[in-house]
Amino acid sequence: MSEFPQNPATITSRKRRRGGRKLDRFLRRHPALGGPLIFLGLILLVVLLPVLLPVALVLHARDLRRRRASVERFVCVGCGQVLGLEALARADAAWAEYVEKLHREHPGCRFRLVREVDAICLQCGTRYHFDEKKWIFRAPEPKYDF
Ligand SMILES: [Zn+2]
Repeated sequence: MSEFPQNPATITSRKRRRGGRKLDRFLRRHPALGGPLIFLGLILLVVLLPVLLPVALVLHARDLRRRRASVERFVCVGCGQVLGLEALARADAAWAEYVEKLHREHPGCRFRLVREVDAICLQCGTRYHFDEKKWIFRAPEPKYDF
């Protein structure tokens, strides 16, 4: 047994593999259903897409509205100033610059990035992550060097 904690990506892929084995076993037992199942899945996707897409857009717009409302009320723990919408724009610019730097330094690589900086104070530079469940900004652990 390894002394390191198990990588969550490994756990996910194992679960997927297990589910894939069940599907493989089912399709081996019933080979004639493979084509119709794929066809049924495509039909379901086409039928549900007009419902799922607007729902996803509405939920995304709601999250952005919450974030903007929160940032206009949030007082920076470093300097006491209200963050404001510019703090979101500054974090967006810093994140874009960081991702561009990664691509420049590692051309052709694909990255799995989790963005943890959603606002940066314009006065003191304190960085915050937006907790979407509690609608508050929190100072993240320092990880990025952008
Ligand atoms: Zn500040």
